[in-house]
Amino acid sequence: MDRRKFLKIAGSAAFVGVCAPFGSCFQTAWALNVRPCQTGARDNGVKDALVEIEKSERDPRSLKVRFFNHKFKDDLFLPDHEMPFLLSSRMRFKRIQRQMGHGNFCLAGFDDALAYARSYACIGRFPRQELDFLEKLFSRPAVDYGFMGKKTVPRLTWQVPPGKIIKIRGSGNYLYKGRSHRLYQDIREKIGTDAVLTSGIRGVSKQFFLFLNKAVQTRGNLSMASRSLAPPGYSFHATGDFDMGEKGFGLDNFTEKFTRTRVYSRLSSLGYIRFRYGPRNHLGVRYEPWHVEVGS
Ligand SMILES: [Zn+2]
Repeated sequence: MDRRKFLKIAGSAAFVGVCAPFGSCFQTAWALNVRPCQTGARDNGVKDALVEIEKSERDPRSLKVRFFNHKFKDDLFLPDHEMPFLLSSRMRFKRIQRQMGHGNFCLAGFDDALAYARSYACIGRFPRQELDFLEKLFSRPAVDYGFMGKKTVPRLTWQVPPGKIIKIRGSGNYLYKGRSHRLYQDIREKIGTDAVLTSGIRGVSKQFFLFLNKAVQTRGNLSMASRSLAPPGYSFHATGDFDMGEKGFGLDNFTEKFTRTRVYSRLSSLGYIRFRYGPRNHLGVRYEPWHVEVGS
């Protein structure tokens, strides 16, 4: 399948490119490494933006973190011949999630996904070429995409250790017993029930599904996908980190709008939470103020 045909198919997925409300011409231009267009008088907001850009330009990695949704010249794309496997494996994981249920799918290992696919005709077993594609995606060093975080899951067949987890009632998510669960309880005690767990433990299958979704949204731009989401095998959700949000805030909990909520300001002012991906992180990942660091 050539890229044009793929784009037509993937067109139904929303493209994630978003420009900030001010100075979008400058932001886009700089993110794409081309000269911004001249617009005459510049207000203070634009001046501030340019100062920020000049500062971050000294460190290209932080420029990419800031403009994570933009395309950069050295971004790595999936080759055209692998596009069909991206689409078909993403749909297969989606069918597995529907069959298993959200909570179980969060914990599912890769072998669990294979077994489910074999057992249910409505899912269909993974063909050899799809498996080769997924194995290659898992084993490729994420640094190739510009993602500098460390590998947290050693093997494709790794499983969430049973017996060490606890289901968090009302959230559809699980946490590890011990440090993660204690921290979560502490947050709930201090902030109240408005602070909700939006994502807990993620096994290999869940991380695959999320990353494949992101890669479809970015039209095969694996670098752009990895600036928003850790590639399979690199998520700290496998080792204990979790995401917090404000009740009723929906998907905005996964945007910078979350920083305007009461839950965020309480999380921040309490000071015992460290955010793994801060606004100036050097890991090549967007700022994630909702992500609570627990694992090492
Ligand atoms: Zn997270």
